[in-house]
Amino acid sequence: MSQVVSLHPWKRKQHLNSENNRLLIDGVNAAELLARYGSPLYVYSEAKLRENALDILGNFRREHANTRVCFASKACANLAVLKVFKDCGLSVEVNSGGEFYKARAAGYSPADMVFNGVAKQIGELREVIAAGIKAINVDSLSELARILAVATELQQQAQVTLRIIPEIKGGAAAGWQTGTSASKFGMTSLEQAEAIALIVQHPAALKMVGIHAHIGTQVNDIAVYEAEADFLIGYFQQVAEMLPYPLEHVNLGGGFPKNYSSAADNFQTVAAHYCENYRTTIDFALLSKHLIKPIAQALGEQIEIIVEPGRSMVSDTAILLTRIEAEKQRQQHPVYYLDAGYSVLFDIYNGWYFHMLNASRADDVLTKHCRMVGPLCDSSDTYYDIEGEGAVNALLNAAPALQEHRGLLEEVLINQPNMRELPAATAIGDVIALLDVGAYALENMTEYCGRQSAAAVLVDLQQGSRLIRRRAEYQDLLAYDVD
Ligand SMILES: *Cc1c(COP(=O)(O)O)cnc(C)c1O
Repeated sequence: MSQVVSLHPWKRKQHLNSENNRLLIDGVNAAELLARYGSPLYVYSEAKLRENALDILGNFRREHANTRVCFASKACANLAVLKVFKDCGLSVEVNSGGEFYKARAAGYSPADMVFNGVAKQIGELREVIAAGIKAINVDSLSELARILAVATELQQQAQVTLRIIPEIKGGAAAGWQTGTSASKFGMTSLEQAEAIALIVQHPAALKMVGIHAHIGTQVNDIAVYEAEADFLIGYFQQVAEMLPYPLEHVNLGGGFPKNYSSAADNFQTVAAHYCENYRTTIDFALLSKHLIKPIAQALGEQIEIIVEPGRSMVSDTAILLTRIEAEKQRQQHPVYYLDAGYSVLFDIYNGWYFHMLNASRADDVLTKHCRMVGPLCDSSDTYYDIEGEGAVNALLNAAPALQEHRGLLEEVLINQPNMRELPAATAIGDVIALLDVGAYALENMTEYCGRQSAAAVLVDLQQGSRLIRRRAEYQDLLAYDVD
């Protein structure tokens, strides 16, 4: 079985286009950027960052004016990106003392930040409480005890919310589901009752300002958001009765999905279970109607609604440019070796799909099927995974009776299409572009195999392009070693 996602169509109005067979991003020639800044290269679009910020603010605030969008900075904590979002009026969500530090460097005030995490350290808590952070989203009773101790020591009041487990399954795959007690996140309602009692006993050190939930990532089912809204409305009212003062906000977390290809047609030849994760009809307008509106109607206009989107704010704002360095012929198909592998784009290690096109031959119609792999000395360093097919065949050889369950086995074991469709003339030296790489990418780069992490540029509204992250150099490889 050979599953191949169709290359065309890939263009996106005003953002990704072509001229003379070359890929343009916001009107700038991709290959020229590569020649100027080197390969591999991340290219972020300022226009797209701003468009996403305005899109979510406009849609959510239309239903509820008192809505705050805290960008989940772990999705992309680059200083230039954080500054663009700040300029657009976003707040920020941080997950560590390090992200708090970066957000402050980007100019965000602690009063515009919320702090998440499952194992917050005493030093981190001291920093954020001393700075007067808007909210610490508490993940456990032990953490609340720690916050009480730190706030008491600092003689300051810590503003807290409690992360509730809504027992809702969101997230496109099991590992991406964070809203059930099978995950490592959040507190049960029993634990929360105990936590609230402790908060009420210590009004000088602790103030409960809201409730918090976060159900997964790339959550692709609108019914899940409706269930989340329903749950939080009920839970908010329950908690409100346990407190001697009113709650200020409800925090719905993030997890909003984005498309990972330009058109639904791209996935027509591929098994349905596979595309589900990468295609969605859910956008900020729909979320506004099914998530923001019911909560706004039930809780009233004075309650602040907070959301923490990460992926959906940045995934479609960047492409990765990478050059073909080598080729081979294997099993009647060419194999192309790129200069970017999972040390540059970590999610491919997890089998994430990124649409791929040839920036040097953007409009070629004649295509071929080929394998695309990275440069690392590891067979997982490939832009698709055919190991699942081998696993199905091995199982069927060992237990032929399973043949009747072949469909189910494929669904569980085959996660990726095993070929890419690229122009027939594709050759060494061509520039390949991977789309929708803006989320969870820059922060996840490593120097595995002695490779340098990639540079990033921003195609901006004034200068055309500017460097927003320098490429690592050989001497960076020695930066942490002590002999
Ligand atoms: C990661 C994370 C987010 C952002 O998730 P996305 O799927 O990127 O939107 C929001 N809130 C919390 C608590 C998170 O851990």
